[in-house]
Parts: sequence; structure tokens; C-alpha cells
Amino acid sequence: MKLVSIVVPCYNEQEVLPLFYDEIIKVTDSMKKEFPELEFEFLFVNDGSKDKTLDIFRSLADRDKRVRYISFSRNFGKESGMYAGLKNSRGDFVVVMDADLQHPPAFLPEMYRYVRFGEYDCATTRRVSRKGESKIRSWFARKFYRIMNKISDTEIVDGAQDFRFMSRQMVDAVLSMSEYNRFSKGIFSWVGFNVKYIEYENVERAAGTTAWSFWGLFKYSLEGIMAFSTAPLAISSLLGILTCIIAFILIIATVIKTLVFGEDVAGFPTTICVIFLFSGLQLFCTGILGQYLSKTYLETKNRPIYITKETEDIYRKNKALRQKAEAAEQNAPETDEKNSEAESGSDEDE
Ligand code: UDP
Ligand code: MG
Repeated sequence: MKLVSIVVPCYNEQEVLPLFYDEIIKVTDSMKKEFPELEFEFLFVNDGSKDKTLDIFRSLADRDKRVRYISFSRNFGKESGMYAGLKNSRGDFVVVMDADLQHPPAFLPEMYRYVRFGEYDCATTRRVSRKGESKIRSWFARKFYRIMNKISDTEIVDGAQDFRFMSRQMVDAVLSMSEYNRFSKGIFSWVGFNVKYIEYENVERAAGTTAWSFWGLFKYSLEGIMAFSTAPLAISSLLGILTCIIAFILIIATVIKTLVFGEDVAGFPTTICVIFLFSGLQLFCTGILGQYLSKTYLETKNRPIYITKETEDIYRKNKALRQKAEAAEQNAPETDEKNSEAESGSDEDE
């Protein structure tokens, strides 16, 4: 038998989770008919949701023994959610997908066909359109991929997604990269392996709203660049060298000019401009340096990528304990009454 773990990071997904569960059960049931060797486990990750996501996990775990979940102590971000899911998965194959049905479960059989006999180590989807996304967002996304691929050795495919059907070997490779600043698109690409891209048209979210703001995406893309490229550092060094050369030429020119034409106080505006320009440049380059330093600082602290608060195991144990305690309580009142009767009786005697 081959076990497939389906990892789903969730943040405030109460609206879409029931739909997702129905859909994934439909697809996995039909897959079991087509590929009798398959078994499934569903590993949900609750990334500190503020709605009823965790309650839905609990009721799914009550209903379906194959449902497992990890609930974080707070919101750690999707990257942490995926890492936790991969780390706790037990399958020979692991699927990572979003809960919002933007990663259609209907692709799973096709994906499995590619990885089934090890021809590919990973099957993933690639959106060829960004239908339903705002124009500005798409423009920035395209520019990001363009820049990223220019300045980084790790190739990041435009439109590649975190919807992946992976072999255990690839999952272990991804897990071996235990860095704190996680940029999965880069990590999945960095580990190599044979990857099959299945192209498809973008699907809009089934329900709920995206947790990504434009600013959030912008910061995430900067993080991606810094995690997989040191080009900004090189650019700042280059700027430094360039300005040194300009300064050197200016110094010689100024000295000659002073020797030939004598000293005068004109040129004040130029001086101010030059001072502003170069202090700006210096601060900019120090800032880039600082960004890398801060990343290094966070990495050296070696903080955990996520913190678990509850799992289906803890939940089931607590539930059994509660039921036991409640049963004991139901028996208890009678004995309490007897005790109090006995006590009042003894009072009368006195
Ligand atoms: N998600 C998460 N933690 C977060 C934000 C998002 O686990 O802090 C999950 C979310 O529940 C969903 C997936 O990541 O399953 C993708 O999120 P979303 O649909 O909001 O992003 P988009 O599809 O717009 O990129
Ligand atoms: Mg989505």
C-alpha cells in the first residue's frame, strides 16, 4: 500500500473548509478505485485562525479517522503551515494544497500518474493566466519573477504554485532546508528533482477572502529575493565603487579648477546636491546590508518555525478524559446526596 498525505494549511477558512472536504473526499474515493494501492491521510494545519476553523477540524476528526490536524499557538504564516504539514506527514507521497479550492483536487489523479512509478518526483500546476486578479498585482508579480530570475541562480517559474504532489525523497529534501526565513517557491526549486508542470487557467477562490494584502505580497517578494540571492549586496558594492570613481574625478577637476581660476564661494547648490545624493546612497546601501544582517540575526537565533498547541491526538485524549469525568460526575450526585443525608442524620443524633 502507498500512503498519500494531503497537507492543507488553513487560516480563517471556516466558509470554504466544508466544501473543500467534500470535494477532496470525492476525488480521493474515486482515486482509490482507479489506483487500488492508495491510502490517504488528511493533515490540516490551523495557522492560528480567529474563526471556527479549529472547530471544523475537530468535528472532521470525529467523523473521519484519516483526518489529522496541527493547530498552532498563533498565526505563523503559510510557509510555517506548509513546513509543519510536511514535517508531520507520514505518506510515501505528500500533496500540499490550499483550502480555498484554487488548487482543484480534480488534478490529483493526473498528478499521481506522473509520480506513480518515480518518473517524476514532483507534479505541480502552473497558472498560465491570472484571471480574476487585479492588473497592478499581475504586473508586479510578472516583474518580480523577471527580476528574481535575473539576479538569482535558483530559477523560479512564473505562475508556479504551492500545489504539489511530491515523493517522500523530495519532501525530505525540502525538510532538510530548515531555514527560518522560508520562501517555498525558491526552496522547491532549489532542491532540484524532476518536476512536471501541468498548465491550467487560474481559478478564483471558492469562498472567504484572501489573507494576502498587496503590502504583504510585496514584503514576501522582497524576502524571496533576499533568501535566494545576494545580488542586492553586490549592487550596493557596485554603487559604492561607481560613486568613488565619480568622486575621484570630481576631486581632480576641483583641484585643477581651483589652481587655475582661484578660489570662489560659488557652487553652493551643487555642494548641497552632492551631499544629499551621497548620503542617500550611503543610507540605501547600509539599509540593504541591514536587511541581510537582520535575516542572519533571525537565523542564528534558531527559533522554531512553528509552535503546536493542539493536535488530533491531544484532542481525542482530552475528549475521552472529559467523557470519563462527565460519566463519573453523573454517578457522583447520588453518593453526594447519601453523604449529606448521612451527615444531617448524624447532626440530629447530636
Ligand atoms: N494561509 C495560511 N496562513 C496565513 C495565510 C494563508 O495558512 O497566514 C493559507 C490559507 O488558508 C490558504 C492558503 O494559505 O489555504 C493560501 O492563502 P490565500 O488563498 O489567502 O492566498 P492566495 O491564494 O491569494 O495566494
Ligand atoms: Mg487562494
